Amino acid sequence: MKMEVELDKAQKRLRDIELALNESSIVAITDNKGMIQFANDKFCEISKYSKEELVGSNQNIVNSGYHSRKFFQDMWRTIGNGKVWKGEIRNRAKDGTYYWVDTTIVPFLNENRKPYQYIAIRHDITKRIEYEEKIKLMAYYDSLTLLPNRNLLQKWITEHVIQCHNQLTVLFLDIDNFKSINDNFGHQIGDLVLKETARRLKLCLRRSDFISRQGGDEFIIILNGLYDKEDIIKVVVKIQEQVSLPFYVNDKIIITTTSIGISKERLKGTKDDICHLLETLIQQADTAMYHAKKLGGNTYEFITPNQNTQMKRYYLLEEEIKHGLTENQFYILYQPLIDLRSHRMVGAEALLRWNNPQVGPVSPSEFIPLLEEKGLIIPIGNWVLKTVCKQLKRWQENGVYLQRVSVNVSPIQFTADDFLNDIKQILNETQIEPQLLEFEITEGTLLNVEVSSKILTELKRLGIKVAIDDFGTGYSSLNYLKRLSIDTLKIDKSFIDDIDIDDEIIVNTIISMGKHLKLNVLAEGIENEKQLNYLLQQYCDEGQGYYWSMPVTADAIQRLYELGG
Ligand code: C2E
Ligand code: MG
Ligand code: MG
Repeated sequence: MKMEVELDKAQKRLRDIELALNESSIVAITDNKGMIQFANDKFCEISKYSKEELVGSNQNIVNSGYHSRKFFQDMWRTIGNGKVWKGEIRNRAKDGTYYWVDTTIVPFLNENRKPYQYIAIRHDITKRIEYEEKIKLMAYYDSLTLLPNRNLLQKWITEHVIQCHNQLTVLFLDIDNFKSINDNFGHQIGDLVLKETARRLKLCLRRSDFISRQGGDEFIIILNGLYDKEDIIKVVVKIQEQVSLPFYVNDKIIITTTSIGISKERLKGTKDDICHLLETLIQQADTAMYHAKKLGGNTYEFITPNQNTQMKRYYLLEEEIKHGLTENQFYILYQPLIDLRSHRMVGAEALLRWNNPQVGPVSPSEFIPLLEEKGLIIPIGNWVLKTVCKQLKRWQENGVYLQRVSVNVSPIQFTADDFLNDIKQILNETQIEPQLLEFEITEGTLLNVEVSSKILTELKRLGIKVAIDDFGTGYSSLNYLKRLSIDTLKIDKSFIDDIDIDDEIIVNTIISMGKHLKLNVLAEGIENEKQLNYLLQQYCDEGQGYYWSMPVTADAIQRLYELGG
């Protein structure tokens, strides 16, 4: 019985050998100490040793030193116990080159079931391993600078963060005006600057620190175990000094500076907590970097509690605003536009409101830039226009005839390729007379005179009026106002405030200039009688402000109208 079992096992082993063998097999037979007793031609070919050299040598003649002691201990334990071992091994040939083999070692057992010989069948997998390494390199390393990329940062965080000392500092580094290097010298030179920057950054760091290229000209550096402010500043200054040394590329000298944002924290909690914390630290360092940029660049900033609160709010709003439109969190209020002479309501300005269940009401000055940044201003701007058109229709049905309703248009919306098409479609859908609409754009929108004048001409053709909003705060020159087809000039509230302190020079200038250009002139933010009387004296045409009404609902506009404006 025992004999049969043994025979079965021996047969199974032979099957293992048979399965592993083919014409490209590298075969070696060793004794139980690893001494080579037989080597086939393929083994000689790949190892570049002759048969004479191999036979009689220990099989570790091809050891590359790549694998750990434990790796071989495990292997010996398996085959020493009479079991088959399979694995991938990196070996070294006689000429010092390396090759990878997929290895199966089958032991031959004596009557005491102790191995007395091993047959090792190997196959060359060098190409496959190289390929896999290339793929890994592509997935985890930035191909330009060969620094780890974002993916490896994530992996590093999960694998190493727990071993980090319990203090961690994150630097977020951005090259100042990198775009102008690309623009002035071309992308190739831009790339060389990035590569050299990466090299210099690495020189400033210790082995335990981590650096990755975040993309573009941004780098993230994690200073492992460094927490003391003075120590951090030393490293940061060293980095900034290194990076601002001149670059000599293709006979050109390029000088760059960097802005660095810094955040730091003592680590505690579970691995998950720490990973999350590190993500937050990166965001905080990014925010601090942004503040360093705002200070003019070439400097560093530690994240401050204030910036931190701002950032937390920003991330919250950023998340919430995505659902604003689908969850009906947006609505529109209307503020009456008043004819100063007759005191009658001639129109209304549509003002967007956002009320979020989590955050509460958010001011347009906060959420409009966010919408612009997130590319949401176009769909939401279109929604505003459509809602206003539908409201105009409803007012008309209820006997409310306003001369115009003005809608604020963001520069991004105004210059978008689809802007005119979107408007035409909305006009078509709602069947509203375009003459009832006025678009409010800011002076900044007109900076690109060529693009904007084309759109203005087309709007005029459609019959839609245009107002310049917040006039006096931008870069307007009188010249272009003459050339562009504009209907209304809205004087910014800050100049109306000046009337209160008897500083009216600018208001006077704007009004007389507007009149000279035959524009309708409206004063924004009128709050008291003094302002109103002064504006009347100056022949200002229209006004808007809390003196008459704050922005109110569409129904309230109807009631005001019915009361006689
Ligand atoms: P804006 O177009 O200059 O709008 C006038 C702002 O002044 C409104 O602020 C209005 O509520 C406020 N205001 C009016 N009268 C008075 C007054 O007597 N005293 C004071 N202190 N303030 C007064 P709001 O509604 O906060 O809007 C701020 C800005 O957000 C608007 O400035 C406009 O640039 C932008 N905005 C609002 N709705 C939209 C929209 O639908 N699309 C776009 N792109 N921007 C919008
Ligand atoms: Mg406006
Ligand atoms: Mg305004």
